[in-house]
Amino acid sequence: MDQRTGQHRQRRNVYRGTQPGRRDTRPVRTSPPSPAQFETRGRHDSSYRKYAARKRKNRALRRLLYLAAGVMILAAGVLVVIQMDIFPICSGEEPDIPTAAMAETRTMEAAPGFIVAVDPGHGGGDIGAEGVYFDEWEMTWKTADYLMDLLEADDRFSPFMTTDGTEYEKASQRAANAVAGGAQLLISIHGNSGDDPSYAGFECYPVPPGRTYNAESLAFAQLIADGFGAANANLRGQNGVRYIYYDANNEKQIYEVSDTSVHTDPTFTLLEECGCPAVLAEQCFITSPQDVDAFGDDDGCHTAAQIYYDAICAWYETYGQAS
Ligand SMILES: [Zn+2]
Repeated sequence: MDQRTGQHRQRRNVYRGTQPGRRDTRPVRTSPPSPAQFETRGRHDSSYRKYAARKRKNRALRRLLYLAAGVMILAAGVLVVIQMDIFPICSGEEPDIPTAAMAETRTMEAAPGFIVAVDPGHGGGDIGAEGVYFDEWEMTWKTADYLMDLLEADDRFSPFMTTDGTEYEKASQRAANAVAGGAQLLISIHGNSGDDPSYAGFECYPVPPGRTYNAESLAFAQLIADGFGAANANLRGQNGVRYIYYDANNEKQIYEVSDTSVHTDPTFTLLEECGCPAVLAEQCFITSPQDVDAFGDDDGCHTAAQIYYDAICAWYETYGQAS
């Protein structure tokens, strides 16, 4: 390998982008000749100083040009950023939001749909009663989910669940959640159970006489019971609507709906404390195979959810718009 070839190879390694095997024809950048080189070439020393001064001047001019170009590119970039509003510059004015969108947002905040609380009865580790095919909480949650779907698809309503089921929340806590959510109507979904599989049928419990919201709750309960009756449920008691109390021994005391006497014993905690018209429904006996077929399995939960939804709609037409 001769000296010249060796230099070329060395340069190809320095300049990026030179294709391998292709001869590098770019001019080789050279350093100014040293005084010794000038002497060798027979030039006078003052010529070298002039040459070196000219090179320095050119280099300084080049640097100045590069600097000016850099400043101009930077300024152009800043102008583009401002124009595109990538980083909004605080001008002390409100951000430019379309007025129509702001109006719509305010309307939604000012007038949400009618607030319905859906209580799934059990869950969060509380299974409720044991049924012939599954536990109570599975039926109540499935029905509550289907009912939520129906209510959410109707823009008249703003439904929410009294619990997310991640942990057990007792009735007083679920009632507090209903109050915190601003509930205007509450439906609590349960399944009944009995020792004998022949026990069957539907019943529901409104807020009892003598309490705030008794009339509104009774009307809601009657609409729900009518719906179950129309779907061929066996309505327990008088048309499926009853009042319930717990006496001093924590024993259930059940009164038929025609008995409007006022009792001081507490009814279901949720009805006592939710702060709105409310009904607790015993959808069916989960210990009765026939009941489960009609109102407890997947189809049955759909049927029940539709009945609750229709009752909520009918009730809302009379009571909801006034509240
Ligand atoms: Zn229950």
